[in-house]
Amino acid sequence: MGSTDTIASEAAVLAQTYSPLPVVLTEGHGVWVRDVEGREYLDALAGYSALNFGHGHPVLVAAAEQQLRRLTLTSRAFHNDRLAEFAQRLARLCGKDRVLPMNTGAEAVETAIKVARKWAYTRRGVPDGRARIIVAEGNFHGRTTTIVGFSTDPAARNGFGPFDGGFDTVPFGDVGALEHAVGPTTAAVLIEPVQGEAGVVLPPPGYLAAVREVCERHGLLLLADEVQSGLGRTGSTFACDDEGVVPDVYILGKALGGGILPVSAVVADDDVLGVLGVGEHGSTFGGNPLAAAVGTAVVGLLEPGDIQAHVRTLAPLLEQGVARLRGLGLRACRVRGLWAGLDLDPRVGSGRRLCEQLRLRGVLAKDTHGATIRLAPPLLITEQELGILLDRLELALRDLTG
Ligand SMILES: *Cc1c(COP(=O)(O)O)cnc(C)c1O
Repeated sequence: MGSTDTIASEAAVLAQTYSPLPVVLTEGHGVWVRDVEGREYLDALAGYSALNFGHGHPVLVAAAEQQLRRLTLTSRAFHNDRLAEFAQRLARLCGKDRVLPMNTGAEAVETAIKVARKWAYTRRGVPDGRARIIVAEGNFHGRTTTIVGFSTDPAARNGFGPFDGGFDTVPFGDVGALEHAVGPTTAAVLIEPVQGEAGVVLPPPGYLAAVREVCERHGLLLLADEVQSGLGRTGSTFACDDEGVVPDVYILGKALGGGILPVSAVVADDDVLGVLGVGEHGSTFGGNPLAAAVGTAVVGLLEPGDIQAHVRTLAPLLEQGVARLRGLGLRACRVRGLWAGLDLDPRVGSGRRLCEQLRLRGVLAKDTHGATIRLAPPLLITEQELGILLDRLELALRDLTG
């Protein structure tokens, strides 16, 4: 079937919650993907960073294949022989004591919210049912009903209430507002160290450290949602590392599954994760041996630090490359590691329009919030491939600016 027919068949039966670019992919290797017509594209979205290690990374595929043939699912009603090593090495990577494995990012965020509330009731004496969590404007933490209840994006939230509350929203980057929002029942601050969905919005210098300090002073947990920012994207293992900040809870997902299957986790010390007892939380698929095998291989790729170093080496090239395109219809560029948010001058076109033009030039990227596009290629992209990406971006911008 050609792409036109495939797209039409999808549209006939799928809930219309997405509006994908008109490209039907069938194969991927490293940073490259191929469509059913045989055209090649550089994947500059990388599954919203779920594909940090690219398509079909041989080490990850081998780990998955071996485990597929042995044992894929046990449920946590029984032990399996892969979970302990995964948890041990992930905990060590995070510098924490314990891991609670889940599947999707949203589930991990939900888990962290439950942990923070229980912690507030059992460790801080907050009256039962009254704990509050501070979140940032422009946040993206997933799509469950609790989570969209504290989204500030009308498209994510409107029409899905009632929302039970328990969240206080403050502007991202304003530590004064955050401290002002702290009350006697505040349990935690939940924050993305870099706001990915919002368009790679970087924290002002010193902000995360100041948030850490406020949490310390008021006895609050700092929950870092590193689902998109973590695991190498910024050139560090965690985006919090870039600011010298250690959160109480890491929320991980996306790249933890190596682009193969959903794997997420909440990672924290004993005194935090220890508030959950037997039967108080769980997941049928969480911690399954296939996920553990792939997750262990992902941690294995990050342990030596050379992928993070590679990102730090290439980051200036990405930064200089997009800065050079300023005159070509870009109003602002934010770059951290191999992660860029580019704001297009609306007179030149929408972010969607630029993504369509990029596709014609052989690059797949995704717009967000109208005039912004995000570049997040696989981290193992070579200097030469990064050059190709920047050249094609320039061509696409020239197409739009005439
Ligand atoms: C993608 C994302 C999530 C949700 O992950 P899912 O696997 O889609 O549920 C949560 N937090 C952040 C920061 C994300 O980018």
